[in-house]
Amino acid sequence: MPVNRSVSSSDGFTCRMGCGACCIAISISSPMPGLPQGKPAGVTCIHLTQDYRCKLFGLPERPTVCNNLRPMPEMCGTSREEALAYLADLEEKTK
Ligand code: SF4
Ligand code: SF4
Repeated sequence: MPVNRSVSSSDGFTCRMGCGACCIAISISSPMPGLPQGKPAGVTCIHLTQDYRCKLFGLPERPTVCNNLRPMPEMCGTSREEALAYLADLEEKTK
């Protein structure tokens, strides 16, 4: 099963195995299986597996926002904790 995010097209930065921070921290407004209203920020997506992979990866039901989000050094940081903190801050600023 692939990791959550495709490689960034600009600099080849890759999604970290065992992270899943962006599947927890960001809000998703589009519907997906089991979540007709999407999900709020800070809530773990029901499609995130225990080893932090996306069950919908490659499927048509996967939200566009998830397909378009690319790993970036600024967002992902150097650890899951850094990514969670960055994304929580971003959500707060863009409320
Ligand atoms: S925050 Fe970055 S490294 Fe972590 S799952 Fe998302 S894209 Fe991958
Ligand atoms: S659908 Fe997949 S990529 Fe999107 S938030 Fe849920 S687990 Fe993450």
